[in-house]
Amino acid sequence: MNSVMFTLVPIFIGVVALCVFGGIFMTFITAFRHRGTIQQITDEALRQSRHRAQPPEQNSSQPRSSSAGDYACDHCGAALGAGTEISPSGDFKCGYCDSWSNIKS
Ligand SMILES: [Zn+2]
Repeated sequence: MNSVMFTLVPIFIGVVALCVFGGIFMTFITAFRHRGTIQQITDEALRQSRHRAQPPEQNSSQPRSSSAGDYACDHCGAALGAGTEISPSGDFKCGYCDSWSNIKS
């Protein structure tokens, strides 16, 4: 009985070790194989973010854009911040006094 245990336990440990190292090895292989793909995805994302960053620069050269910089609050006269959202009907909320104004008024 004892001899059987002494034979089986090392085999069991060996099988477990093989599975663990095999898993680590496969992870490295997969990471290595996908490294080029990940790099391509990163490059593509960078290129797309650059493309997305360019159109606003072109729009800013046009005098009539949806830029909020030309408008000011009716109540306190503060200029609209760049992040101020203007509704399709022209309403916007002042970032300083929190009151609503209209760009067409
Ligand atoms: Zn205001």
